[in-house]
Amino acid sequence: MTGSQAIAIDGPVASGKTAVGGLVAKLLGCGFLDTGLMYRAVTQVALERTIDLQDAPALTNLAESLSVGVSKARGADGLVVEGREVAESLRDGSVERGVSLVASVPGVRRALVQRQRDIAAAGQIVMMGRDIGTVVLTDAAAKVYLTASVTERARRRHLEFAERGNGIGYEQVLQELQRRDAIDSERDDSPLRPADDAVVIETDGRPIEDLAKEIVALVRER
Ligand code: C5P
Repeated sequence: MTGSQAIAIDGPVASGKTAVGGLVAKLLGCGFLDTGLMYRAVTQVALERTIDLQDAPALTNLAESLSVGVSKARGADGLVVEGREVAESLRDGSVERGVSLVASVPGVRRALVQRQRDIAAAGQIVMMGRDIGTVVLTDAAAKVYLTASVTERARRRHLEFAERGNGIGYEQVLQELQRRDAIDSERDDSPLRPADDAVVIETDGRPIEDLAKEIVALVRER
């Protein structure tokens, strides 16, 4: 399997993957890919085309036929889906609620995992997701599993929503996060869990810079 130069960062919702992974990539001078954006992009296009999110064959067709590439200017962190650079709007409302359902469809996963491996084969990369260390890049140079208490993760996600002007309440954020965690960890195909050879890091109360430096040190040690 591909990925021997890659750094795999997995973890549940709001565990810090995106912020920490982005900084790790900057410190290492390599690209990064937040694979959650791919599942979100499939969900967004499915909603736009009014595909039922329970219709596994239709979702599989969609994921297989979707054009997914990386922007020449921004490398792996500039993901282009159906000719559109993926945007922060993928983190909002209906996409957020539907994405874990879409991501539990094996055909969708198969199609996206292949794209993720192709991107990793092009050069050193930090890849964030749920199954990067366990499925996508099993021979990654370093595997990290970030985690934090559910209340800390809900607090972070609530703050992110508020900063984007979304007034959703803390309790609702907490419930939604627990629902997504449950679907992600209980699904049959590639459930969320740390790889046997992953280093598990608790992120409660730790600054992003600290965490990124710890991961870079791990990578350099290998
Ligand atoms: O990381 P993020 O919250 O953006 O991911 C959105 C959803 O996409 C996750 O809740 C999960 O259902 C799915 N996902 C996945 N495998 C990945 C990345 C994301 O199943 N590698």
